[in-house]
Amino acid sequence: MSIPEPVAKLIRHQAYVNGQWVDARSGKTFAVFNPATNERITQVPDQGQEDTSEAISAAHTAFPAWKSLTPKERSAILKRWAMLVNDNLESLATILTMEQGKALAEARGEVASSVAYIEWFANEAMRVTGETLPRSANGNFEYMQKLPIGVVAAITPWNFPNSMIARKVAPALAAGCTVVIKPAEDTPLSALALTQLATDAGVPAGVINVITASSGAEVGFELSKNPTVKKLSFTGSTAVGKILLEQCASTVKKLSLELGGNAPFIVFEDADLDAAVQGAISIKFYNSGQTCVCANRLFIQESIHDEFLKKYNEAIANLVQGHGLQENVSHGPLINEKAIAKIQNLVDSTVSEGATVYRGGNKLPHLGPNFFEFTVLTNVAKDMEIFRSEIFGPIAAVYKFATEEEAVALANDTPYGLASYLYTRDTGRIFRVSEALEYGMVGVNTPRFVSETVPFGGVKESGIGREGSSHGIDEFLEMHYVCIKT
Ligand code: ADP
Repeated sequence: MSIPEPVAKLIRHQAYVNGQWVDARSGKTFAVFNPATNERITQVPDQGQEDTSEAISAAHTAFPAWKSLTPKERSAILKRWAMLVNDNLESLATILTMEQGKALAEARGEVASSVAYIEWFANEAMRVTGETLPRSANGNFEYMQKLPIGVVAAITPWNFPNSMIARKVAPALAAGCTVVIKPAEDTPLSALALTQLATDAGVPAGVINVITASSGAEVGFELSKNPTVKKLSFTGSTAVGKILLEQCASTVKKLSLELGGNAPFIVFEDADLDAAVQGAISIKFYNSGQTCVCANRLFIQESIHDEFLKKYNEAIANLVQGHGLQENVSHGPLINEKAIAKIQNLVDSTVSEGATVYRGGNKLPHLGPNFFEFTVLTNVAKDMEIFRSEIFGPIAAVYKFATEEEAVALANDTPYGLASYLYTRDTGRIFRVSEALEYGMVGVNTPRFVSETVPFGGVKESGIGREGSSHGIDEFLEMHYVCIKT
């Protein structure tokens, strides 16, 4: 395909270290593909341990000057960055769809959310305060100030390659930290484009560095073991999160982990059924099912189960799968062939365990190599593998329940605890069930609530820490206590 000039200008082919666009020391590269077609878009450096160590040093060198700017000066640079991201929204959305596959409308929404995160933290930069404390002895003057933690490593996933960068880098920079980013190997181009715009906005050399690599392990090892890195912020799988948690133990690094989810979506018989159906469409098939907040287990009260399914099935027929750059398309492909194979295996194994395919169940090779049908599985039970799996694809697993107690018990029967959803019109039940759900976030009669104002994060094995909201910046600050004997 021919790439329009404003888009081409933002597609970078190199990594970014200490204010320079660079190749890997080894000279190696790896290809970035369009998942809608498996066509190669470009290649980027395949960097390793030494490249990463160099980027960490650059971030360390840049730290004193960056933290010494006044909050207002840092805020002004972040605001310019937000403005440039907004000015280039269409090009960034195009790059995002090219490398990730999501429909252009969703990509535009994601880039707009990046603008919102950067603006939000540009403002939060100026609201970092401390406390004067009650004196612990007469003659003392005691206070606590919040100081930037230092060099931050940010490891990001491929499902939100644009906004995950904004959500981590903006608060880090606002706090006065410098950053080394390691974007996902499937989608490095959005991170590089955002970095280009940050540089244009006046972010100094060394303050943002981007390392690109074909696999996360080597770079991740250096980022977690290097003592100069004081904080690691990771979004990705629980399996990799656990590796990082262990690796970071050696330097007692502060960690934020946004890991997997197994979101329950509970519909009670007193719910507005049409709203519940629309909600289940929106959050099950969001990003073609590839988000950690996607409805993973649909629990429908038995008296409305069949009617829900009928309406759900009809609503799915209105969705349009295809190449994300085509304007009428609502849902793009999965990220790669590995993801397609995983989904096909999961459907097959769930059926062999006794579930029924209500609709779908197959690949869609006529659309491209990485497309899978919207699929609804019924007669699914809690002893099946799918109950414990993070599906990460357009497969709706529908379970029946009888009572509120049963629904809550089923919902909480998982090591995960990120997002959860419930639909009911009973006011008492709203408060009761919301509190009983062991999740970091609960959506009541609403499927989509994530924004820059929300403390996004999970409990249990879904992670540590929160991103966004007025608390997000605290992840990049340390409390510094001072006691003065007067
Ligand atoms: P997913 O299953 O969604 O691809 P991953 O956890 O594998 O999630 O990937 C999320 C990010 O973690 C990516 O940037 C990836 O390169 C990186 N990653 C993968 N393995 C490791 C590792 N061992 N150490 C550090 N980062 C890793």
